[in-house]
Amino acid sequence: KANPQTSGIPVIFITAQHQEMDEILGLELGAVDFISKPINPTIVRARVRTHLALKLQSDMLRSIAMLDGLTGVANRRRFDEYLDINWRQAARDKTQLSLIMIDVDYFKRYNDHYGHLAGDNCLRIIAKALAEFVRRPMDLVARYGGEEFACILPNTSLQGAYRLAETMRKSIEALSIEHKLSDVAPCVSASFGVASTAPDSESNAMSLVAAADQQLYMAKGRGRNQVSADDALVAAT
Ligand code: GH3
Ligand code: MG
Ligand code: MG
Repeated sequence: KANPQTSGIPVIFITAQHQEMDEILGLELGAVDFISKPINPTIVRARVRTHLALKLQSDMLRSIAMLDGLTGVANRRRFDEYLDINWRQAARDKTQLSLIMIDVDYFKRYNDHYGHLAGDNCLRIIAKALAEFVRRPMDLVARYGGEEFACILPNTSLQGAYRLAETMRKSIEALSIEHKLSDVAPCVSASFGVASTAPDSESNAMSLVAAADQQLYMAKGRGRNQVSADDALVAAT
């Protein structure tokens, strides 16, 4: 129960103890059920089935609660949780953690011109395109907010993250979704901010979000439809 990797496994105690105190202790430690010997196999099987059904249901609800309803990628809640988990993991392992922040260019104009339904559809297509490039099992694409996405890349250098961001940027451009009112391209594009750090226990994950956000702001300022990262660091890593 203390190990995050196994804490979700339902535990049934089967024991020769008959004391009420033992049962209370077992349940307080996190057991889902407590069966005293001698056991009746039919009853034990039935109880195991019940707990398996409950576990599957709660896993399913939990996974739905972590998904963005519009695009199907991870939602903001999952993003926050996943970033925190990986921040602490990277601090323990002394590995590099990278983050890409993505913001669709001139998307207000897109909505104004093509309508909100077309806007929603555009976000779905973009999310799908982004998710296609995130193939490593530990990587996560999330919808961070309205027309903003984020990508958490554990154990990835700034240079690696930069390359992935550039691939994503090109792939969004290649979707060729018409956007007549964009000042930067004839089609929908996005700007990318990339940051990377070796987390330690003193700092926290918000500093990485702030750094990626700042780079995103630079990408917007330099003309949009581009990737920005700390150039000196990209060259050095
Ligand atoms: P910039 O290039 O500076 O990012 O300009 P922008 O217009 O994309 O930025 P701004 O933040 O001003 O506007 C974001 C717009 O995104 C506002 C809203 O119309 C649109 N938007 C946000 N969330 C949704 C959504 O869920 N669906 C749709 N259709 N549009 C959304
Ligand atoms: Mg925005
Ligand atoms: Mg935008």
